[in-house]
Amino acid sequence: MCKYDYQCKLCGFKIDVKAEYKDMQDVVLKVSSDCPNLNPVTKEPIVLDAMYELMVPKEKSAVMQLLKDKHRHIEECTAYESIRDAIGLSLGRYFEIA
Ligand SMILES: [Zn+2]
Repeated sequence: MCKYDYQCKLCGFKIDVKAEYKDMQDVVLKVSSDCPNLNPVTKEPIVLDAMYELMVPKEKSAVMQLLKDKHRHIEECTAYESIRDAIGLSLGRYFEIA
């Protein structure tokens, strides 16, 4: 389990991301933030295909799919960048350990 801390550059809310790999592909993210806009990803852990998430552009991201309807300023909010960064860093660690 890796834990990363971010702060949204737009709204200033802290974003905590805990990442745990189920296997080489699937990562379970536990996102916590006081930002009400991030509800779709904070209310329960989300399971993502890590490689996919790192490779696709923002428009195709599963994180963005979860957030885009609910989050009024997702384009300017750095939540997506934070979550993507956490996936990348934790994937690096996963391969270090494995
Ligand atoms: Zn924000």
